[in-house]
Amino acid sequence: MSLSEGMNAIKNNPKQGKVISLTFDDGYDDNLISAVPILKEHGFTATCFFVAKYLGSGKFDKWGDGERRLMDSVQIREWVSTGMEVGSHTLAHRNLVHLDNVEARTEISESRLILSDIAGDEVKYFAYPFGAYDSKICYMVEDIGYLGAVTVKPGFVESKTKSYELPRIGISPQQSTITFFLKSCTPLVDLHQALKKILVDKQPRGKPRGIADVIGAISQQAAGN
Ligand SMILES: [Zn+2]
Repeated sequence: MSLSEGMNAIKNNPKQGKVISLTFDDGYDDNLISAVPILKEHGFTATCFFVAKYLGSGKFDKWGDGERRLMDSVQIREWVSTGMEVGSHTLAHRNLVHLDNVEARTEISESRLILSDIAGDEVKYFAYPFGAYDSKICYMVEDIGYLGAVTVKPGFVESKTKSYELPRIGISPQQSTITFFLKSCTPLVDLHQALKKILVDKQPRGKPRGIADVIGAISQQAAGN
């Protein structure tokens, strides 16, 4: 289900059991062309976080592995017409922590105005580019009116989870079906996070972290952004 539907379920109906929200970042047009038919076939909805300044652009190359096209406004309306949700991923996919207050606020607020206008509905959720945020950025996202924001921190959402630091389970195209199953349907991610915390806490300050760094690197890779 979409993030809005998932968050409503967690907050208003916690006894119904686990729910899964599907999210896509950046707004590549293959989310509409390839993913929507499969989502519809299974009766699923999802949320896509769009980069408002580059809608329709064929020059978005976040990973340095080739340019891919992002949905334009007509395609976003098609995305919405199939029951999918629109979220904001800023104007230009810049690292918000590195911007001054005015620039960061512009990225967060203007993208919401543009995308709400296209979607014909108020954009409720936000995704931090590169998963980068701090307390100041969280406050801005809340102050501007979003109901919550997703990170790339691995983990599951519970009713007590902070709304502006929602974790996610990262799934990349390179992952096998078994990895996908282990990450999404078992406590593997939680165990991994707990082990990582223990190892990091046990390290003396200023000393190399050894295996904790390795696990951290694996975690970063698994989360994607
Ligand atoms: Zn992104």
